[in-house]
Amino acid sequence: MSQQIILLIQEDPANALSVREALSNSIDGCFKVEWLRGCQEGLDRLAREGNQRGDRIAAILVDLFLPDSRGIDTFDSLYHAAPQIPILVLSSSQDEDIAKLAVQRGAQDYLLQARLDSYLLPKALGSMIGRAANAEALFEEKERAQVTLNSIGDAVMSIDIWCQVTYLNAVAENLTGWSCADAAGHPVEEVFNIIDGTTRKPMANPMAAAIRENKTEALTPNCVLIRRDGHEAAIEDSSAPIHDRRGRVIGAVMVFHDASTARALSLKMSYLAQHDSLTDLPNRILLNDRLTQAIALASRHQQKLALLFLDVDRFKHINDSLGHAVGDRLLQSVAQRLIACVRTSDTVSRQGGDEFVVLLPEMKHAKSAAVIAEKIMATLATPHSIDEHELHVTVSIGIVIYPDDGKDPETLMKNADFAMYHAKDAGRNNCQFFKPEMNVRAAERQSLENGLRHALERQEFVLHYQPKINLETGVIIGVEALIRWRHPDRGLVPPAQFIPVAEECGFIVAIGRWVLREACRQACVWQERGVPALRIAINISAIELRAKDFVAAVRDILAETGLESGCLELELTETFLMEDSKSTVTVLNDLKGLGVHLALDDFGTGYSSLSYVKRFPIDTLKIDQSFVRDLVTDADDASIVSAVISMGKSLHMRVVAEGVETREQLEFLQKHDCPVGQGYLFSPPLGAWEFTQLLGQSKRRAAGEIADTRLSA
Ligand code: C2E
Ligand code: MG
Ligand code: MG
Repeated sequence: MSQQIILLIQEDPANALSVREALSNSIDGCFKVEWLRGCQEGLDRLAREGNQRGDRIAAILVDLFLPDSRGIDTFDSLYHAAPQIPILVLSSSQDEDIAKLAVQRGAQDYLLQARLDSYLLPKALGSMIGRAANAEALFEEKERAQVTLNSIGDAVMSIDIWCQVTYLNAVAENLTGWSCADAAGHPVEEVFNIIDGTTRKPMANPMAAAIRENKTEALTPNCVLIRRDGHEAAIEDSSAPIHDRRGRVIGAVMVFHDASTARALSLKMSYLAQHDSLTDLPNRILLNDRLTQAIALASRHQQKLALLFLDVDRFKHINDSLGHAVGDRLLQSVAQRLIACVRTSDTVSRQGGDEFVVLLPEMKHAKSAAVIAEKIMATLATPHSIDEHELHVTVSIGIVIYPDDGKDPETLMKNADFAMYHAKDAGRNNCQFFKPEMNVRAAERQSLENGLRHALERQEFVLHYQPKINLETGVIIGVEALIRWRHPDRGLVPPAQFIPVAEECGFIVAIGRWVLREACRQACVWQERGVPALRIAINISAIELRAKDFVAAVRDILAETGLESGCLELELTETFLMEDSKSTVTVLNDLKGLGVHLALDDFGTGYSSLSYVKRFPIDTLKIDQSFVRDLVTDADDASIVSAVISMGKSLHMRVVAEGVETREQLEFLQKHDCPVGQGYLFSPPLGAWEFTQLLGQSKRRAAGEIADTRLSA
């Protein structure tokens, strides 16, 4: 047991001695007595005590009547100098009242000097020192908790079992507007006044629940605290019950913090995520939400709703020619006018680019959607003045009606999109209601487009070859390469089904280059096998011809494959010639310059006359198969075919009859001196291998009869 220093302040040596003796043989503690005779000496000692480390005075034993200080003053000055050190007053029986007064003022206890003995004194001192140490520890603990509570950023508040406030830390004082002293004893609802941020109804106090349920209560979402002065702050909180030593709930504590900034930020973020930054209109995500809600509502009330899908006509042209800044302002202007056309319960949203969607949630008749669409077109038609520009804008609108055209948001949006494309096809600046046929066509188109995207790299294209026959000799004098798409699911897809899609998506240029290269390569193979006169024809779409580097590509591929340019024929369509621009003539002249042959395919189906065609360097006319088909039965077709043959001859153009299927047709053509024919009568288009076989047969039959021209394998 360590030694406890007892400061004894006592004038009378005999009394001092009796204290020493009483403490010397104690079994209750090991005491070392420091004896001083006066109050001032005692104060000096206590002053040193405050500065020194090491052995501390554990208790003071004092006789209040000293030479330099008398009575309660002695106690007061000592207590003031060292309030943390317990004081035991030694008193005579006459001064007992003063000793009692000292106890009231903070002394631990008093003992009568005459009754001191070695049992009582150490016992009294020991328990007094122990109590003081506990109190000190408790104080320190409380102090530490207080400092902690006031230094954390969260507000802390506690209540007792009757839900009356017992404590607020500094942050809680700030947030509630109540000081801890003011709040203490008030019902918690008064101090901690919370409402639901959306409904503004009072919210149940989480601390009361923590007490009732005896468990930690999770965060209350969307909670708003109203401060004493009426100011509101969004808060997040959690509460826990407080237990006594026996585990009974005696109150609750709550930790909460001001979530206004975080909540405002999250509101802003969610606004940004749901709105288009350029026009501030709801975006695709928010529209989808609203559409889903509107569908649920319409279905419950058995009502209709309409969705208008708008696309600004030729917006890309404006953007490209006047710049993005003007394009952006035009979109903003369109957005504003759209909003002006509809009610506040309707939603105008921007889907991105120049596409807008209008949701009309409550529709009595489908007709009303058309009325709104007309209104929109009329409103947008007034010129938009942007900077010095007066921009005239039209839109194409597709309309769908729930539930007729779709029951879910995806279907409705998709069908509205199809209908919008139809409006574009129908010449723009109009609106179209969705019809189920659009769906089938558009879905088909979409699926083809997706497949085409990878068809080249997956090597899904093949060329088939159809011979062109010299109708006089029956010899194969040329071949037309015709593309097929070996689709993994659909099998062999004919070009009529996918070439138009490839043209629209721009894939046609790459596909055309592949055809050109593959056909040239194959022609070289055949030439090496001894068919030198074989000229290979490939079909070129108008879009390919318009590509800037088309002529260069033809030249490069000829050089690369080693095919002589005279062995290549390009079959063009009238659409390209119809453009009749300078560049059309230039391209054709450049191609002629390379030495390739040019043929006009499907002649007669377009608007071009022979005199018109004469202006271009065309070598061959291919009479379209529709004329050949009926030439035996239809006198008009017969005369057109014979006219073309004879005029071609006079213009020094070669004439090829396409689609020869019957012997009668062949005889007619031969009678009219048509030099070349192509068609199933001779052979359908064949794979490269079969065509090679055919070439072999043809060589052997070269001198044979034309009447026996069924060459097919
Ligand atoms: P086209 O250039 O007029 O080709 C002739 C079409 O008539 C071919 O159809 C051919 O198979 C078919 N045909 C041949 N003989 C007969 C016959 O006796 N009777 C009938 N009814 N039809 C016959 P195909 O191969 O389906 O090609 C259709 C069109 O696709 C071609 O018409 C051409 O315009 C285009 N095309 C084919 N391959 C390509 C290509 O590689 N690139 C481009 N841009 N277009 C191509
Ligand atoms: Mg052709
Ligand atoms: Mg043709």
